[in-house]
Amino acid sequence: MAADDPARPSSPPPGSGLATRAVHVAREGAPLGPHGERPATAALYQTANYVYADAEGAARAAVGDSYIYTRHGNPTVDGFARAVAELEGAEAGLAFASGMAAVATAILALAGQDGRAGEVLASEGIYGGTTELLTGLAPRFGVEARFAPAWDLAAFEAAIGPRTKVLLVETLSNPLLRVPDLRAVGALARARGLTFVVDSTFTTPCLVRPISLGADVVVHSISKYISGHGDVLGGVAVGRAGVLAPLRAMRTSLGGNMDPFAAWLALRGLRTMPLRLARQCESAALLAAMLETLPGVRRVHHPSLPRHPDHAVARVQLAAPGAMISLQLADGAAARRFYDRIRIFTRAASLGEVVSLVTHPATFSHGGLSAEERARLGIDEGLVRLSIGIEDVADLEADLRQALA
Ligand SMILES: *Cc1c(COP(=O)(O)O)cnc(C)c1O
Repeated sequence: MAADDPARPSSPPPGSGLATRAVHVAREGAPLGPHGERPATAALYQTANYVYADAEGAARAAVGDSYIYTRHGNPTVDGFARAVAELEGAEAGLAFASGMAAVATAILALAGQDGRAGEVLASEGIYGGTTELLTGLAPRFGVEARFAPAWDLAAFEAAIGPRTKVLLVETLSNPLLRVPDLRAVGALARARGLTFVVDSTFTTPCLVRPISLGADVVVHSISKYISGHGDVLGGVAVGRAGVLAPLRAMRTSLGGNMDPFAAWLALRGLRTMPLRLARQCESAALLAAMLETLPGVRRVHHPSLPRHPDHAVARVQLAAPGAMISLQLADGAAARRFYDRIRIFTRAASLGEVVSLVTHPATFSHGGLSAEERARLGIDEGLVRLSIGIEDVADLEADLRQALA
């Protein structure tokens, strides 16, 4: 089952590109017959437990690294996690029931380890669920958080405190798509002896591989681009095996392992991820440039645009500037009108699906914040967020034009 199983009859040579590796990774099931024949797709081990031949086998499995119970480990789930790790250039991977299970386990395991709970310095503009975790749940377990803009390195460094253990950033902030310089934050983490965690949900290994830029742990919500079809919930964390060890133990205790069928679906989604991302990012850049020319659009936030504040960092750091766009319209009434008139974009939460999606952050993802806090984060009533899908770009353009007319 291992992605790097040398006996696999078809494995791309080292140095193959990401799209080649994504279609081949963890593709074949275990050998079935005497001639080494295998199923052409990964096997789905939809099982809760594992059967032993005798007392000695059971006793060995219980103390060793063998399969005992799917909450501890499952070959389909582990195969999926290894596949993501391989594409990220990481030594090991762990899959989770959701992106939040991955983020929460990483934060609590890494900031709370060594018997002395520490602090997380997180970037501003991170995912709402993660902000709630850091301000609500984590402090009850002794893990405190501070927030500072990671795209302003001096401000981020100045916010490091004596108890800081973990730096947490997202590759693209939400919803204004700011781009922290990962290499610079990684160097800061190394210099200060801190663990650097990067949430790369918005970018996937297609656009950036944060391990190569100094991240210790990379987490993803699989529910977004990696599975890509809006039909799976999952998460993953990748990094060095030693760094992931406390996450593995905590995952078992919290019960956050991924379901085997979800892992199997995510593995299928992973195959087309490079193709989807290429299309989505290309369409997003075209639409961002088009939207800038429309009357009624006050501002377009997309890192492909030269006036985006992190355009230069994005050009160096990201293979493509992502497929999320935020649009600043005149006011809340204009945003609501746009939201009601759009036809192809689906009015739904989440992002990264094959279909294009639209949200109104001020009343939806960021509705729980005070008006002052929203203003500080640059999220006003006129802002709408788009997740660009794989539809024909001419149709998306026409839809945006008619909704803004
Ligand atoms: C969606 C998301 C999460 C949470 O993932 P779930 O799978 O919904 O639990 C975490 N981080 C980012 C950046 C996300 O977009």
